[in-house]
Amino acid sequence: LNTVQELIDNSNKTKLIRECLQLICDLERAAARVELGVISPRELAAVRDALLQIQKLPILIKSCDLSGQGSYLEEFLSNLNFPDELLQKLLSALADEPPAILKHGGVIRSGFNQEIDRLTSLKQDGKSFIEALQEKAREETGISSLKIKFNNVHNYFFEVTKANASKVPDSYTKKQSTVNYERFITSELKELESKLMSAESALLQLEFELYQELRQSIEIYSKVLRELYRSVAMLDVLTSFAMLTMRDALVRPQLLEEPVLEIKQGRHPILMRSLGADFVANDLSLLPGKTNAVILTGPNMGGKSTYLRQTALVVVMAQIGCFVPAVSARIGIVDRIFARIGASDDQNEGDSTFMVEMREAAEIIAAASNRSLILIDEIGRGTSTADGLAIAQAILEWILTQNKSRLLFATHFRSLTGLEANYKTLKNCSVASVDIESQVVFTHEVVAGAASQSYGIEVAKLAGLPGQLLAHAQDLVAASAETAVPGQRTNQLPLFSQIKNSQVNNQEQKSEIESDNPQFLALQALAIELGDSDLDQMTPLDSMKYLYELRKRARELKESS
Ligand code: ATP
Repeated sequence: LNTVQELIDNSNKTKLIRECLQLICDLERAAARVELGVISPRELAAVRDALLQIQKLPILIKSCDLSGQGSYLEEFLSNLNFPDELLQKLLSALADEPPAILKHGGVIRSGFNQEIDRLTSLKQDGKSFIEALQEKAREETGISSLKIKFNNVHNYFFEVTKANASKVPDSYTKKQSTVNYERFITSELKELESKLMSAESALLQLEFELYQELRQSIEIYSKVLRELYRSVAMLDVLTSFAMLTMRDALVRPQLLEEPVLEIKQGRHPILMRSLGADFVANDLSLLPGKTNAVILTGPNMGGKSTYLRQTALVVVMAQIGCFVPAVSARIGIVDRIFARIGASDDQNEGDSTFMVEMREAAEIIAAASNRSLILIDEIGRGTSTADGLAIAQAILEWILTQNKSRLLFATHFRSLTGLEANYKTLKNCSVASVDIESQVVFTHEVVAGAASQSYGIEVAKLAGLPGQLLAHAQDLVAASAETAVPGQRTNQLPLFSQIKNSQVNNQEQKSEIESDNPQFLALQALAIELGDSDLDQMTPLDSMKYLYELRKRARELKESS
């Protein structure tokens, strides 16, 4: 983190460092190929070019204003073991742009070996020797269209048209006839040909030998190349963090020993890039002794998984020395992050979706410590509701009492939110949504308190399921609300249950309760006011405010009952 800060403070130099880094090849791979003796001329030239860039790095780093807080930049300078001799060897021996394949030639730099230079100039001059001989033959024969050509079967030959063939002197030996041309050779052309061809093969042979020698002589540098690779890779990572911080306005996290997790206006580092200003930042506050775990409820598509993932990413980023997407972040160092997210089966291993879920939960429970961070995004779905709910609750309570890890627990089992009353360090949060013109709109805001409704049917509507099917589902929801699930905790206000029972059992007692009970009368007044309210005339914001006001009054009633 100190290094990233220094790099940000020296942003111009950081940009120059990155320009150098971009021209550095994969030195670890190159080192392995040097060790195996198979590195190609082009790869070796890439090592040479990388070394030239690495040579510039200490100069650039020394020109930065270092804070003296002990950063990787100082470590880089003091540990850098630059292989000067290797660079000199490569600079003197290798051509500027050698081919990928050794036998294509042109590998050795001119001036490195006299014999190579002589053979190269012979090869280059060969072209002018051929042109001179062609000119001479044209004069000798009087055929101005005569040409010397080359192919892989006959090598060099003279070529004239059939019409001119009679002008060719007897000293020319016929080599081949084609439909339109006659081809000849002479002893002079043969002599020149063998000179050129032997120069070519001698050159290739000599280049091959010299390159092998070079390759062997640099094997001893493979360890140095690996060390360089590690130093440069670290610099690459840290400068990337600095560039990212400047681009995305990240902040330096505060790393602490105690198990805190306090993120203000945290963002998902990837979604915030794709959604831009539409991404809604959220807070998280896990403080030892106060809140250790959060149950997150709310509609499908509300943003629960995103919130869980962004929390894990912020922690990972902070602990690898990167700044984080938030306004501020206090992060108690976590020893491990456990995530039970998404549904998948593993048919190869013979595991069903539910089995995979349970296996993951078992691993978490067995391994998580009080310094771990656990993210559970839905558990207990792939079985009967009663079993799933029971397992989810048992896992949650186990983590709270045994593992004592920091925990974010997203669930659609709303009855689990009742557990908040039993555990001091457990808090309910929910992702908010509003109804606008009977359409559910997700605000993606994480707020305190449990979700009041699940909106599953609204999300199914958004997904395009047929209206008739949805109406049927709505009826089923209404019907199931009347039948309590056995063993399920009821979170009804005592007043409601009292009235409901009285409705069933005793009509007389009911009237007594209604007339005598001040809470009942207040509730009735609330219901009448709600019934008379003109929601259509309110802005979405006003209707939200109104809803909060009603909730406040209902809670006051609950407390007084
Ligand atoms: P489900 O319960 O169905 O799994 P969910 O509550 O986990 O849903 P997510 O998958 O987190 O919902 O989010 C759904 C979509 O909402 C995301 O793909 C993203 O496009 C959008 N979204 C989530 N969080 C935010 C946010 N904070 N700001 C803006 N958009 C968001």
